[in-house]
Amino acid sequence: MSARLLDGKRIGAAIEAEVAEGVRDLELRLGVTPRLSVLLVGSFAPSQIYVRNKARTARRIGIRSEVISMPESARTDEVLSRLEALNADPDVDGILVQLPLPEGVNEPAVIERLDPAKDVDGLTPWNMGRLVLGTNRWAPCTPAGVMEILRRSDIPVEGRRVAIVGRSNIVGKPLALLMLRANATVTLCHTRTADLEAETRRADILVAAAGRAALLGARHIAPGATVIDVGINRVTSRAEAERIFGAGSEAAREVEGKGGVLVGDVHPLEGRERAGALTPVPGGVGPLTIAMLMRNTLEAARLRRTARPA
Ligand code: NDP
Repeated sequence: MSARLLDGKRIGAAIEAEVAEGVRDLELRLGVTPRLSVLLVGSFAPSQIYVRNKARTARRIGIRSEVISMPESARTDEVLSRLEALNADPDVDGILVQLPLPEGVNEPAVIERLDPAKDVDGLTPWNMGRLVLGTNRWAPCTPAGVMEILRRSDIPVEGRRVAIVGRSNIVGKPLALLMLRANATVTLCHTRTADLEAETRRADILVAAAGRAALLGARHIAPGATVIDVGINRVTSRAEAERIFGAGSEAAREVEGKGGVLVGDVHPLEGRERAGALTPVPGGVGPLTIAMLMRNTLEAARLRRTARPA
């Protein structure tokens, strides 16, 4: 069997087109163009790429965006005061604090200080609480993107067994809540799960969000299951690439040529062989995360600028 590939680029582009229309509508009705501020602290290379992609997408669909860069050495109080300024700026609709923050910055304190009305990744305690209660205005971008991939690929969730590998605040936990709301039966796995294989093999829908290259192989996947691979891992050793893709493979050569290759948390070859449907890495969940950030920013702008109760 060869899995049907769920094309995140195509689905992401469709959502972006809808958001672009919403942006034009807001401009026509209220004369307002949504504005997104991205706060980037430090020099973590993947974050620089993600932030660049987010700003580029925003521009493409007509959302005003800016990246505020702060050095690796920034102190928590300095980050908080930049954040306060963005909170207080009436022209800013959405604020994204790019995670992870450098070691020296108190991440929970920063997230707590974000104005919930501008928290377009839905990570503040207020927005997380609303997610638990089911009264949220939007959901964290990556989990929301996972739900959109499934919905737009006509893969039902209701009544299905869903296993999620990873319980982080930005992916696993909020995704479990969204799945529960969609009436799935949810199992949340982590490093202390006693028998990962047994848990994941029972799943109709398996979501991998562990941040470990090719962690899940054929033995973790029920034949024909839907597999959503959130993981983005850069493999830089040729030996590791050969272990995953095989000696002499194109990916192994790419490591030499480009210095690395992107691999999901699901073994790419075994996943394709075993799953019924699979998101590729890259080109699966990644584009959806950005598209949902745009959608959340538009929604935040709509809510703020039309003064509907938040
Ligand atoms: P974290 O490191 O915050 O969390 C990883 C989670 O996976 C933890 O809960 C951890 O368990 C669990 N885990 C790690 N190793 C294992 C293992 N061997 N067996 C079982 N569980 C394991 O990662 P994030 O949630 O931030 O990100 C996860 C992945 O998703 C990363 O590759 C990241 O790059 C990617 N990502 C992709 C996005 C996209 O747009 N596509 C957006 C965000 C993230 P424990 O809690 O016990 O430590």
